[in-house]
Amino acid sequence: MDFDLAPEYEKLIATVREFGEQHFTCEAVRQWQHDAGLPDEVVRDFVNLDFNGFGVIHRRDHVTYDTMAQTLVLEELARVSGAALPFPNDFLNLQIMEEFAGSGQFEFVRTGYQTEGRLAFALAISEPEGGSDTMSMRTSARTIDGRLVLNGTKTFVNNGEYAPYLLVAAIDRDASTGKHPALSFWLVPHDLPGIKVYPVQKIGQSILPFSTVVFENVRLDEPYRLHGKQAGFPQLFHLFEIGRLFSCATALGLAQAAMEDAVAYARTRTAFGTQIANFQQIEQMLTDMEVKLDNMRNSVCKNAWKLDRGCGDRLGVALMKRYVPEAATEVASDAMQIFGGRGYTRNERVSSIWQDCRGFQMAEGTDQIMVYVAAPLIMEKYA
Ligand SMILES: Cc1cc2nc3c(=O)[nH]c(=O)nc-3n(C[C@H](O)[C@H](O)[C@H](O)COP(=O)(O)OP(=O)(O)OC[C@H]3O[C@@H](n4cnc5c(N)ncnc54)[C@H](O)[C@@H]3O)c2cc1C
Repeated sequence: MDFDLAPEYEKLIATVREFGEQHFTCEAVRQWQHDAGLPDEVVRDFVNLDFNGFGVIHRRDHVTYDTMAQTLVLEELARVSGAALPFPNDFLNLQIMEEFAGSGQFEFVRTGYQTEGRLAFALAISEPEGGSDTMSMRTSARTIDGRLVLNGTKTFVNNGEYAPYLLVAAIDRDASTGKHPALSFWLVPHDLPGIKVYPVQKIGQSILPFSTVVFENVRLDEPYRLHGKQAGFPQLFHLFEIGRLFSCATALGLAQAAMEDAVAYARTRTAFGTQIANFQQIEQMLTDMEVKLDNMRNSVCKNAWKLDRGCGDRLGVALMKRYVPEAATEVASDAMQIFGGRGYTRNERVSSIWQDCRGFQMAEGTDQIMVYVAAPLIMEKYA
C-alpha cells in the first residue's frame, strides 16, 4: 500500500496551483462572487492548461476521464481560490451529457468547452417539489395531439439564465414504465417559446448563479433528444456518485484554505501578551481541524481511486458524502472562531468559505439522504 501521490499527480497539482495563484487573488475572487461568474479569460486559461496527459477535460484515449486527476484538480482549485467555482459542475455535467448522448451527438458542446471553457448548457434535474427523491420528478415529455411537448419546473439550475441550451431530465410519458420511470434527456435551446427563467437567491456559493426554470408546453423536436445509452435512473445515480466525489473534493479544498488562513492568523494575532496560537483551546481547535482534514482527504482519495478502477462502492461514496461536507463546515466554522470577530465579517474569506461548505451538506444529496443510502448497505454488510 502506498499513501503517497504519484509524482505525475504532484506535477498536475503544481500546475493548477500556479494557475490559481496567478488568477485567484482575494480581490478577484470577491469581485467574481459579486458578479456571480468567472471572466472568459480565466476559464479559457484553465482549459488551456497542460494537464500532463491526464484525462481531466479530455477523455484519455477516448475511453474515460481520470477521476483521481479531476478530484485533485478540483481540490486544489478550491484550496487556492477559497471559493466554490464552476469547474466541478462543468466536469460532471459534461460527463452526464456524454454518457447519455449518442456517439458524435452534440460534439459542439465538448469542443466548445475544451477550447473556450464555457459549457454550452445548464443541467436541469432538481425540482421544487422534490430534490432528494429524484425518481419522483414531474417534468415530462409527452405527445399531445401529435406534438411532442415538455412541461414542468426545475430548480437549482446552475447557469440557467446564461447558458444557450438547457439539458433537461424529463420522464418520457410516451415510453412504457419498467422497474423505474422512463428517464429521457433533452438538449433544448434556451430561447424556445414557453421557457421562463427566474434567479434563485442563495446565501453562499455566490460565483455559481442558480435559477428556477419553468417549461410550459415547450415544443420539442426529436433531434433534441439524447439518444445514447439509455439505462435510465441507475445510470444517472452512478453519475451522481461522481458528482458527490467532486463536491467532497471541493469542500475539502475549501476547508484546507480555511485551515491555512486560521494557522496564519493564530501565528500573528496576540492577546494577553502572547500569540493566540499558544492558547491550549486554540491548539485544540487546530488539532481537531487537522484530524478532520486528514479523514476527509483519505475518504476522498480512496473513493476516487476506487471509481477509477471500476470498483467504486455505493456505501463508500455515501459515507464520504455523509462525512466530508459536514466536517468541512466544522473546520470552516472553527477557522472563523479563531479569527474572533473578524471571522464574522466579509473582510475575511473564512466567512464565505463557511457559507460555501454549508451548501455541500445539501448539494448532490443531503446529509440525511446519505444515511438513507448507507444504512441498508451497512445492514447488508454486517448480515
Ligand atoms: C448549494 C447547492 C447546490 C445545488 N446544486 C444543484 C445542482 O447543481 N443541480 C441540481 O439538480 N440540484 C442542485 N441542488 C439541489 C439539491 O440537489 C437539493 O436541494 C437536494 O437534493 C435536496 O432536495 P430538496 O431541496 O428538494 O429537499 P427535500 O428532498 O425536500 O428534503 C427536505 C429535508 O428532508 C430530508 N429528507 C428527504 N428525504 C429523506 C429521507 N428519505 N430520509 C431522511 N431525510 C430525508 C432532507 O435531508 C432535507 O433535510 C443544489 C442545492 C444546493 C443547496
